[in-house]
Amino acid sequence: MNARANTPSLEAFWMPFTANRQFKAAPRLLAAAQGMYYTSDDGRRVLDGTAGLWCVNAGHGRRQITEAVERQLSTLDFAPTFQMGHPIAFDFAERLAAIAPGGLDRVFFTNSGSESVDTALKIAIAYQRAIGQGTRTRVIGRERGYHGVGFGGITVGGLVNNRRVFPLLPGADHLRHTHDPARNAFTKGGLPAHGAELADDLERLVALHGAETIAAVIVEPMAGSTGVLLPPQGYLQRLREIATRHGILLIFDEVITGFGRLGAPFATDYFGVTPDLVTTAKGITNGTIPMGAVFASRKVHDGLMTGPEAAIELFHGYTYSGHPVACAAGLATLDIYAEEGLLTRAAELAPHWEAAMHSLRDLPNVVDIRTIGLVAGIELSSREGAPGARAYDVFVDCFNKGLLVRVTGDIIALSPPLIAETQHIDDLAAMLGDALKRAA
Ligand code: PMP
Repeated sequence: MNARANTPSLEAFWMPFTANRQFKAAPRLLAAAQGMYYTSDDGRRVLDGTAGLWCVNAGHGRRQITEAVERQLSTLDFAPTFQMGHPIAFDFAERLAAIAPGGLDRVFFTNSGSESVDTALKIAIAYQRAIGQGTRTRVIGRERGYHGVGFGGITVGGLVNNRRVFPLLPGADHLRHTHDPARNAFTKGGLPAHGAELADDLERLVALHGAETIAAVIVEPMAGSTGVLLPPQGYLQRLREIATRHGILLIFDEVITGFGRLGAPFATDYFGVTPDLVTTAKGITNGTIPMGAVFASRKVHDGLMTGPEAAIELFHGYTYSGHPVACAAGLATLDIYAEEGLLTRAAELAPHWEAAMHSLRDLPNVVDIRTIGLVAGIELSSREGAPGARAYDVFVDCFNKGLLVRVTGDIIALSPPLIAETQHIDDLAAMLGDALKRAA
């Protein structure tokens, strides 16, 4: 299929979220990784501008995690957590509870962001039923939201390509998204000034559907995968107030923002707005072993701990919920985050990061730059008749020149590992700037 040495056959692997035929004609393969860098299969060093897929917050190849995983595999490789347990799952839940977003210190384990989202939606609906609000089964999401690929997640998500082919959960509805480059382009030094009133969409949906039909509203505090869309000043507070007023649970999807991405342990802490449920994954194990977790408030948790003592309170779970090897990876990851101060490091880097990203402002086709913590979205104007093509070309060019970026539509999304030094940030900005010039 291609001429590189040591390249495996590319036929059998049906790649996720990939234009398979296009990719296989000109593949990009990553063979190794250490610290801030990948090594491609043809031996080139590639600066990781995306922490893998928003997950390798402590950088690649961390020995502490490797050793913890090895130890756990040789001690207890697997044990169930259904009507049965093993100590490390309880230990890890306690350690997570100690840093829980907004004090939501009850932890349900999953294996991915998508599973965390579907779990949180199910918890919300089950909770409402348990407290005598069984008519509340409707879930509300937001346009341009990304909540993974389960049927719950694509229902509350707001991406047409995730939604158009599949039947969705009945009754769901959406808030409008908050992306407004006409009013907020090139915002610096804080959140966009305009758009808090968009939270009132929830009030509108209450008027339309009746509060007694709505179980929960879910948003990403910062929408990552759909292009780094920041919440306007006051927006999340307003959403919290409206949800509370109407007995609607608020879910923050922190699969990306969890574990230090914005400069606080969670976006919940960063924004000072406390939801009822928080979904996480990715950085929970530094991307090493698949895992996710849902954090629930005492109110939600205790609301479900009702009914007869011998009964299962929530009929839900995964074979690998609290997998011992994932828990071992997670504990080692939390140790690294604590020892190296990584859960707040993005706050220290943010001024340098913001300046570096905004230095690209005058390059061709750049129509907006947004940063928060150690995240940036660089929005390009679309090439006529070919939306997404310009950013995709930049992505391929960057990869060939030694920088990994992510693109969604014509937005370039950046989220390097939180161990980045200012030199990495400067290198990243220089390489991306060169690619933007070449693309013109
Ligand atoms: N929610 C959010 C906010 C995400 O960003 C993602 C993945 N990028 C998911 C859910 C889904 O996570 P996963 O791919 O692990 O299922």
